[in-house]
Amino acid sequence: MMTTMAKEPGLLTPVQANGSKPHRALDAFGRQIHYLRISLTDKCNLRCVYCMPEQMVFRPGNEILTDSELFTVLRAMDALGFDKYRLTGGEPTVRPGLPDIVSEIARLPRTREIAMTTNGLRLGKLAEPLKKAGLNRVNISIDTLDAAKYKRITRWGNLKDVLRGIEASEQAGLTPIKLNAVVIRGYNEDDVVDLARLTLDKPWQFRFIEVMPFADVAEFQQDHIVTTSEMMRRIEAVCGVLSPENGGALDGEARMFRLPGALGSVGFISPVSAPFCASCNRVRLTADGMLRLCLLKDGELDLRTPLRAGASHEDLMTMIRAAIWRKPWGHDLADGIIPMNRIMSEIGG
Ligand code: SAM
Ligand code: SF4
Repeated sequence: MMTTMAKEPGLLTPVQANGSKPHRALDAFGRQIHYLRISLTDKCNLRCVYCMPEQMVFRPGNEILTDSELFTVLRAMDALGFDKYRLTGGEPTVRPGLPDIVSEIARLPRTREIAMTTNGLRLGKLAEPLKKAGLNRVNISIDTLDAAKYKRITRWGNLKDVLRGIEASEQAGLTPIKLNAVVIRGYNEDDVVDLARLTLDKPWQFRFIEVMPFADVAEFQQDHIVTTSEMMRRIEAVCGVLSPENGGALDGEARMFRLPGALGSVGFISPVSAPFCASCNRVRLTADGMLRLCLLKDGELDLRTPLRAGASHEDLMTMIRAAIWRKPWGHDLADGIIPMNRIMSEIGG
């Protein structure tokens, strides 16, 4: 359908040729932004070395959006055309009342998909109630299959709990199961082979992530990065050629491949070595109520202050639409500019 650009106070909004309202918010580069990643808490039951310091100090409870404040923001996002949600953290499963939050999101008129990124430790108990509440699928973080290495990376996690969580998710129908590993030198770069092999006889997607630098953890992260090309070399040396899926096109933020004869697929998320900003369709809501326009840039819109000052649904929509219009094109890691105001667990990934 043809679109023309019409000017509104402080923002530009596309208007369909037939005069109907646009279904999706646009940024100034013409990207349709309709995917919200919601960090439900900055707290976590692990302390992964690449994510947060061991002595992490969490935000006071009164800084975190209440359920009712969260739903007020989500109603505005829904009215702006958002239809895809990912729950994240910190660790989203430590947020009290999680199934109720999921069912509230599932009830929004436009919701098409609700996924969650989790360390999986609590899925043994939560997978089924979450599925019943309307969660579609999960991405579970598992950086190694070696229990001692898992403990070292997460500082105290028990690998058995994650494996139980994966099983419970599969049984509950939170599928297709997607697994994530951040690969860091000196901790798990050898493990990419065993992790990729999981896809040989399971219809899972295993996605390897390049570690990204944030604030106080940036030095560790930059010193321990393993690039996608190295991960691929390591896997191919043992398991055979990785054949590109989807003609080599991006699937979300990952480029997908398949090992010979595998039931599942292997993906690589390469924000550092091959940024995918051109296809970005998302913004993030932090647990303390900031709309973050780019994962790797500090710019945020404070929604909590106007919410607590009584902003109306229309006020929120106007603010959010204007902020989305100003969404930056992409990050500047290649120029050495790294985000300094938050670490990963305070954004959610
Ligand atoms: N606690 C949940 C988990 O670990 O899956 C959700 C939050 S965690 C911040 C979201 C994802 O970001 C996880 O897959 C985690 O491994 C990844 N992650 C954490 N720190 C990262 C970093 N510095 N660079 C890249 N990925 C990171
Ligand atoms: Fe927690 Fe996830 Fe960060 Fe690990 S990556 S410390 S599980 S928030």
